[in-house]
Amino acid sequence: MQLKTILNRVQKFKSFVYQSVQWSESDGVLTLVIEMVARAHSDPLCSGCGRRGPGYDRMETRRFEFVPLWGIPVLFLYAMRRVNCKRCGVKVESVPWARGKHTLTGAYMQFLATWAKRLSWQEVAAIFQTSWEKVFHSVEWAVEWGLAHRDISKVESIGVDEVLWHRGHPYLTVVYQIDAECKRLLWVGQDRTMRTLLRFFRAVGKQWSAQLRFVCSDMWKPYLRVIAKKASQAIHVLDRFHIAMHMNKAIDEVRAQEARAMRAEAMEVLKHSRWCLLKRPENLTDFQQAKLSDLLRLNLKAVRSYLLKESFQFFWGYVSPYWAGKFLDSWCTKTMRSRIEPMKKVARMLRSHRELLLNWFRAKKAISSGAMEGLNNKLKLTTRKSYGFRTFRVAEIVLYHALGKLPEPESTHRFC
Ligand SMILES: [Zn+2]
Repeated sequence: MQLKTILNRVQKFKSFVYQSVQWSESDGVLTLVIEMVARAHSDPLCSGCGRRGPGYDRMETRRFEFVPLWGIPVLFLYAMRRVNCKRCGVKVESVPWARGKHTLTGAYMQFLATWAKRLSWQEVAAIFQTSWEKVFHSVEWAVEWGLAHRDISKVESIGVDEVLWHRGHPYLTVVYQIDAECKRLLWVGQDRTMRTLLRFFRAVGKQWSAQLRFVCSDMWKPYLRVIAKKASQAIHVLDRFHIAMHMNKAIDEVRAQEARAMRAEAMEVLKHSRWCLLKRPENLTDFQQAKLSDLLRLNLKAVRSYLLKESFQFFWGYVSPYWAGKFLDSWCTKTMRSRIEPMKKVARMLRSHRELLLNWFRAKKAISSGAMEGLNNKLKLTTRKSYGFRTFRVAEIVLYHALGKLPEPESTHRFC
């Protein structure tokens, strides 16, 4: 079987033919060179408007990289024609195997992009003997195609979240779809200001936002304000996963404060404390008894914070928003009396967002509660695998590619 037969089977073009296949060897690298020609009497397609027009002239031969066969690089050679288009003037023709100024064929870009879902871009570049940049452009092309062809018309629930990125620009804002039947990344923006999220709402438009039924987010004020303004009809839910995060942060703070206090007081308290811990309590002197209570006090706050956090778990078990509200109020009162400042801060925060918190019970059946956390974990895994993003553009492309569930162009043959 000839190579031309194989090519016609995996990728046949209506107006072009595979003319010849030849070996080429330079610097010890063996390459398969395939010459393409336009079919006789077929007019070139204008790259401006997509219509056929009379040929104007022919340009220098261009090289396009195709999917390697048996590890051997494959090049298409073709001299692009120019069209004398009635509408656009003299334009370069468009060819079905490549887009714009890309030197990689569409099939090869799709091939690299598919591998880039499983391996890091560096690994893909190394295995297929190409550059990081070419892998990046392939993924970028796949993402752009996917974004242009995806269907977001049936989105009813979204989750908004912030992601720590890198030192110079610490935050990204991400918007997920969190409907039970589809969970995916919808949008990425730089920073976490009101302006960032406004950009998202501007991109999707008023009509789209008006059909949202649930919006899930953290208590981050800029987000709350934009959501109240742009999706006021939707039930705004504070995410369970974020509240647990705030509690854990508070406990960490208490523990760290106590550890620092320990260091300062430790010299004083621990200096003469040995016998308080070794002796039976009834045998302690007055001085040693005071010491023991000092020691116990040092640890108490972290433990009490922990118990407060654990007792809050009951909140999520309620079915009726009314009783959940009752529980929330009593938990906040108890915590406000605890004299543990970081936990009081959490209680104040929960109190001031009471209605949004109770929305969780109103939306319970519609929102899949683990969705935000699951997508967040996947996102963290992706950022770790890509060894830190160089620019926002790279971050954006990586995340859409990994989490966007984007459609792919149909091709007659799947190369991987
Ligand atoms: Zn045209």
